[in-house]
Amino acid sequence: MIDIIFKDVEQPKDVKLPDNLIFGRTFTDHVFEMDYDDALGGWHNPTIKKFGDLKMSPATMVLHYGQAIFEGMKAYKQDNGRIALFRPDEHFKRLNRSADRMCVPLIDEKFLLDALIELIKIDKDWIPTKPGHALYIRPLIFATDPFLGVRASNNYKLIIMLSPVGPYYPEGFKPVPILATDKYVRAVRKGVGECKTAGNYAASLAAQREAIKEGYTQVLWLDAIEQKYLEEVGTMNIFVQFEDEVATPPLTGSILPGITRKSVLQILKDWNYNVNERPIALQEVIDRYHDGSLVEIFGSGTAAVISSLSKLKYHDTVLTFSEDKAGELGTKLYNEITDIQYGRKEDRYNWLKYID
Ligand SMILES: *Cc1c(COP(=O)(O)O)cnc(C)c1O
Repeated sequence: MIDIIFKDVEQPKDVKLPDNLIFGRTFTDHVFEMDYDDALGGWHNPTIKKFGDLKMSPATMVLHYGQAIFEGMKAYKQDNGRIALFRPDEHFKRLNRSADRMCVPLIDEKFLLDALIELIKIDKDWIPTKPGHALYIRPLIFATDPFLGVRASNNYKLIIMLSPVGPYYPEGFKPVPILATDKYVRAVRKGVGECKTAGNYAASLAAQREAIKEGYTQVLWLDAIEQKYLEEVGTMNIFVQFEDEVATPPLTGSILPGITRKSVLQILKDWNYNVNERPIALQEVIDRYHDGSLVEIFGSGTAAVISSLSKLKYHDTVLTFSEDKAGELGTKLYNEITDIQYGRKEDRYNWLKYID
């Protein structure tokens, strides 16, 4: 194993967390960094150092052509004081899948997990302990060649940064209004929709802007070929509970393979629900809402865990659900997953990796 270099690292003292943690605004004292250079034999220089600004050439490739991939996962301070990561192996596996598709050199997943654990140990006082709070972990890799030609870069930087976050819904688990669009698409099969790569999010902004203008918080994406089938909602996977079935769109290449999605599928199977990964036509959702056989719709993702829908609008059709009360199944899943994450329930699937 390569040794990590510790540069100007001091255990932070008297960490003062802001009362109101806004997602993605507060960062801990240190980052983990590593560079890739073909000429130097690949990934090298694994370093934990002070969080600080980067200096780079205006020609840096990532700024022009978007060769960048990332992950998003969380660590939780449990009631017993232990710190647990939720399925980090799955997150690093997905990082490598994104890397492969985007021509970014692969990373040793086990080494990266060890490095992350070292980093969290140093900044562990930054992990908030209030209910629903956590440490958000953002690994990022981007192309660093100062070169304007279009090709895969020969040099990359990997950074892991840490950000303490409050609960996604500060006033409690609250349903959100969603706007389905057929004016824009997020991703197409055989494209890069299944990667956490920067351009996917830039491409989603125009639709998001229009949804917000209409009073909706997120976009429900439809398939890029026919604009007929559900794909995902914002940065969450989507589940639809019908009377006799819980369904979620299959992973056909345009959808992000969510780790929360995978966890929800596993739990639902264990609870003996009839769960299916199958294409879901928006028209089916609308028809079954009207004939009374649609129960609820919810999204799944690391940030919110589970998010219920209060409203779904598509053209002139508006399906309404409770505005203030999350759906029954969504709530049950939210409680089950967060109970495992915070150590209130046995980790029966071995999803947690303790850092001590
Ligand atoms: C990250 C992400 C998800 C959810 O994935 P999780 O692993 O559950 O956090 C879903 N859709 C998109 C577009 C995403 O970026």
